[in-house]
Parts: sequence; structure tokens; C-alpha cells
Amino acid sequence: MFTCTGYAAGAADQPLAPFTFQRRDPGPTDVAIEIVYCGVCHSDLHTVRGEWGNTLYPCVPGHEIVGRVTAVGGAVTRFSVGDTVGVGCMVDSCRTCASCREGLEQYCDNGFVGTYNGPDRKSGGHTFGGYASAIVVEQDFVLKIPKSLDLAAAAPLLCAGITLWSPLRHWKAGPGKKVGIVGLGGLGHMGVKLAHALGAHLVLFTTSKSKVADGERLGADEVVLSTDPEAMKAHTESFDLIVDAVAADHDINAYLGLVKRDGTLVQVGAPEKPLAVAAFSVIWKRRSFAGSLIGGIAETQEMLDFCGAHGITSDIEMIPMQKIEEAYARMLKSDVKYRFVIDMASLKAA
Ligand code: NAP
Ligand code: ZN
Ligand code: ZN
Repeated sequence: MFTCTGYAAGAADQPLAPFTFQRRDPGPTDVAIEIVYCGVCHSDLHTVRGEWGNTLYPCVPGHEIVGRVTAVGGAVTRFSVGDTVGVGCMVDSCRTCASCREGLEQYCDNGFVGTYNGPDRKSGGHTFGGYASAIVVEQDFVLKIPKSLDLAAAAPLLCAGITLWSPLRHWKAGPGKKVGIVGLGGLGHMGVKLAHALGAHLVLFTTSKSKVADGERLGADEVVLSTDPEAMKAHTESFDLIVDAVAADHDINAYLGLVKRDGTLVQVGAPEKPLAVAAFSVIWKRRSFAGSLIGGIAETQEMLDFCGAHGITSDIEMIPMQKIEEAYARMLKSDVKYRFVIDMASLKAA
């Protein structure tokens, strides 16, 4: 075991604070990583505040991890000391069930091991995530970060990027398809960049007037202020696919009405309270209302390589670890442009 420093929440109503804990020494198939940057996902906030009702405390969040390999186990073949690598939302799964064999570890029949707040099958207790100095991960769950990408700006690809990539690919966003993205936050802005690069006609829906120009800059063909009923009406029954990345309660029927016959609205945002879907919103036009969870390891690497080839990263605002509560407060006001990334060097300065 070795000692790590990080930040943890002790309870749902407590701010994150400095926390020291132990990690296992790397086993034969493990990769030890010094964490250089970690993105701040809204899921971190939902989890530390106990909004999904399943949080194990103390909670060290963080699943958009990039860093450098500091040690590898004897059976590790794909990574060497000094490599630049990433870790997303999963650190293990059963690898034998049908879903794992298809490369869909996020739907593992036996439950994947979350990077944080998951059952730690190796050391006992629960897993601690990336708001920390280091992490030890099974080699099969470690990703290669293309050298051409800025390391800090690549961190959000590990969750925000793959969470949008997976549904865009599954529902075949591309040339000739009209695709909508709802909410220009961390996930949404990656969706805009990726759908644009995949060649879809991309319409962004935002509640924030201040983000309209950014939406166009990031690659949206059209930006709709969702608070404007006339602008919404102009898109009635016209979308092949809409991906909803909103973190709070909102009217999902307003978007279902914009989906054309046999089209799909995919929910990736995970608000605390259930969304009310009117039966006629899906009966009418034989629409589908679907969901999608992050993405598998192979498709995460595919997405990273695509981003490497197309020069796609996140628009980030770097913060020291000590400013995490301010970042959360701004996230709750939709004031994120467009992902906070924690500089782990700040842990040493503390
Ligand atoms: P975020 O950066 O906070 O972005 C959320 C965006 O939603 C905001 O920027 C805002 O965009 C919009 N929004 C917020 N409140 C709203 C409201 N009341 N009504 C309408 N729109 C509102 O969050 P994120 O990190 O992108 O995460 C988004 C959600 O996805 C979270 O619930 C998170 O837990 C979930 N998530 C799911 C998965 C998955 O696998 N399915 C993976 C990661 C995260 P505008 O200002 O443009 O309106
Ligand atoms: Zn996330
Ligand atoms: Zn499995």
C-alpha cells in the first residue's frame, strides 16, 4: 500500500476537504498513474451531495483522469513508465459476460467497478477517484491519450467526450442527419464538437443567451434559445436524433415534440428527480425515448483517436483543487465554459 493525497466529501452536506488515504501497490496487471489533471463532471457533484442516494463516504470523486505512468506490473504489455494515459468512469468489470465480451463494459451483467463510489474488489471498501495525487488501475481500463492533444484539455474526453460519442455513433449521427444537443455544459459542448466533426446538421438548444455565440463557434449549425417558444416550434417533428445532456429538471416533452417519425431522444443527463414523459409524446410519430451510459473501453479509445486525428479537445477552465466548491457553485448556475479541470500540482502546494 502507498499513501495518496486528495480531496473528499465526508457527508452529503459537507464541502470537499483534504483527505489522505491508501492505494494498493500495483499488481501484475496494474498500471500506477501520477494524476496530472482531472476534469470536473456534474456527476461528481450529484454524487458528493448524495443526490442519487447511493453515495459511500468518504467520497473522492473524479473520473476524467489524465496522467503519467509511474510503475507497471510484470504482466503489463501495453504501457510503460512515462506514458501519457487516461482513466474514465470505470476501473474494472467481470470481462466474461456477454456485454463485456462485446466491449460494452459499462453494461456489465455483474456490474462494472466505478472509478469512484464503486465496490473495490481488490482492496475492499469502495473506490476513490481522480481528485487525488495517484491511482492504480487494471491495464485493460487504461486509455492511451494521443500525443497531439493538450493533456489538460483532453481530460474531459474521458467522461464528457465518450458519453456523447457513444450515442452519436450508436444512433448513427452523420451526414444527412439532423441532430440536436440539449444543454451547453461539459457534456453538451463535447456533443456539439463531435456531432459537427461526424458531419451531422447540428442544432444546439440552450437556456443561456450568453452561450449562443459560443454554440456557433463550437460547431453548431443552428442555436435555439429553448426559452423562445417560436424558435422551438420552428423545429417541430424534424430531428432524427436529440441527445439531452441537461443536469436539472426540465420539460422533456418540449424536445420529444421536435423528433420526427421513428426518431429518438436519448437522455444522458441524469437529474435528481424523474422526468415526466407524456404518453402522447412517444405514441405520436412512433418516437423512442432512450438512454445511454458513458461508453465501452474500445469505443473510448476509438473516440480518443478520432479526437487526436481531428484536433478535438474540451474548452476548459483550469482550477486548483482548493477552488472545487466555487466550481460546483458555478456549475449549479450553468456558469461553466465549458469544463473545469483541476491541476493536481495544486495538491502539493496545499
Ligand atoms: P454541466 O456542465 O453542469 O451542464 C449541464 C447543462 O444543462 C448546463 O450548462 C445548462 O446548459 C443545462 N441546464 C442546467 N440546468 C438547466 C435547467 N434547469 N433547465 C434546462 N437546462 C439546464 O453538466 P455535465 O457535466 O455536462 O453533466 C450533465 C448531466 O449528465 C449530469 O446530470 C450528469 O450527471 C450526467 N452525466 C451522465 C452520464 C451518462 O453516462 N449518461 C455521464 C456523465 C454525466 P445551458 O446553459 O446551455 O442551458
Ligand atoms: Zn462524468
Ligand atoms: Zn461483465
